[in-house]
Amino acid sequence: MSGGAMLRCLIALFSAWYGVVAAGREPNASPNFVVLFADDMGYGDLSVNGHPTIRTPNIDQLAHGGIRFSQWYSAFHVCSPSRAAMLTGRLPIRSGTTGAGWTGGVFGASAVGGLPHNETTFAEALKTAGYATGMVGKWHLGQKPEFLPTNNGFDEYFGLPYSDDMGSSAWSHYDRGDRPPLPLLHNTTIIEQPTDLGTLTQRYAQYASDYINRKKDEKFVLYMAFSHVHTPNFVSKEFCNTSARGKFGDAAAEMDNAVGVIMKALDDAGVRNNTLTFFTSDNGPWLIQKLEGGSAGPFYEGKTTTWEGGIREPGIANWPGTIAPGRIAQQVVATYDIFPTMMKLAGVPPPKDRIIDGKDMSPIFSDPTVASQHDCIYIYKGTPNGDAQPGLWAVRCGSYKAHFVTNNHINTTAVMHDPPLLYHVERDATEVYALDPKSTEYLSNMATIMAARQAHLASLKHVPNQMAMGEDPKQKLCCDWDSKKKYPKYQECTCNPDNWEAWTCGRPILQALTTPNLQ
Ligand code: MG
Repeated sequence: MSGGAMLRCLIALFSAWYGVVAAGREPNASPNFVVLFADDMGYGDLSVNGHPTIRTPNIDQLAHGGIRFSQWYSAFHVCSPSRAAMLTGRLPIRSGTTGAGWTGGVFGASAVGGLPHNETTFAEALKTAGYATGMVGKWHLGQKPEFLPTNNGFDEYFGLPYSDDMGSSAWSHYDRGDRPPLPLLHNTTIIEQPTDLGTLTQRYAQYASDYINRKKDEKFVLYMAFSHVHTPNFVSKEFCNTSARGKFGDAAAEMDNAVGVIMKALDDAGVRNNTLTFFTSDNGPWLIQKLEGGSAGPFYEGKTTTWEGGIREPGIANWPGTIAPGRIAQQVVATYDIFPTMMKLAGVPPPKDRIIDGKDMSPIFSDPTVASQHDCIYIYKGTPNGDAQPGLWAVRCGSYKAHFVTNNHINTTAVMHDPPLLYHVERDATEVYALDPKSTEYLSNMATIMAARQAHLASLKHVPNQMAMGEDPKQKLCCDWDSKKKYPKYQECTCNPDNWEAWTCGRPILQALTTPNLQ
């Protein structure tokens, strides 16, 4: 063979190899699924997304080994509605979980409502295909036993039923009748109250790793919902004062370490190449917490708003051997796409008797050039006046996003926009330069958005507003209703008095917040 022919042969061989690696391969049927879900992490809070002082090497490795999405949306700007959508594939307005007023909202620690039983979670759907279903971490879709994960399709559960600041041991003896000390649950049993937050994330990682090891010979789904990086930024001793970003960076580093432990468990169990792992967060950074909250990176605003900073999230899909490494995808995807993607890959028909808002994102896994599966994204903020009128504040169709109503993270007063504000959020991701309402570009794109908005609103059915059912202190979770007799110094429902002081990491215990504006 001549030198030239040899070179051409080598080039052809390399091209064939590169083609396989670059394109990945068609997804196998019925992989395992792991959903790694952060709390209140902004788009800019990962080192792989450009944060200068937060270090997240394990999450970065997930991104480098798979697809990092730059236009990944959560369903809502606060915790509970976002999680309801992720679990069901449906916008939270359809399950009555968008909140009880204009501002949207979350389930309290004594909530009467929860994720309705006629909704189907991905755990319930995957069980029909023989999957083992496990959940670790923050639930926040109703603390009453009937609403807990083990009554929503999960075989087992280890975690906190709601946010880590809701009656938390992080606050100094935060004595409120409707917010007991933070309970840690195994299935529906309280095993610790208050919870030792200092060891919580390490225990989560251990439970998740054990779960993977126990289920490695079955098909399984693991939903791992971290309390990090929601305020307060508790950490174990190992991570105290380790980050140049301060407490928030310490918490991000501890969560990242837990991600590394869970990925190692998949490797050690020999199932990594048959496991699709997602990483994302429920909503944007909680900016009123100042340095204790995160960063939306290039996006405007954060949690509690419908600006991009409230809903644009880090998004990663990793599946070694199937998803080619090192890609950045600009297709519009959403957290509620996880449900239909799982259904497609597991061969489970999605429920036919309801609208599923999510789209199967698996075509993007094997074809980087495929078009966005979403024509439009509908962005809500609560239901004004109970549930008489849906609070559809913004709509994005293609590259254009219209704001009909806005607020900011400090002032919850709604500002109505007539004509609506319109931004090209690919040219202008920071939403600074609203289009001229008289321009042809504005008029033609607003016409598209208004038509889509009208059709979407017509698709809504009236359902009971779960958060408008309010709170009942009798529904709070309590390990011992008479514990004050035993521990008069502490709030009722204390069974682990040492945990009131256990986790402080050399820092003073935070003073209890006086305003109940915690989510
Ligand atoms: Mg959250």
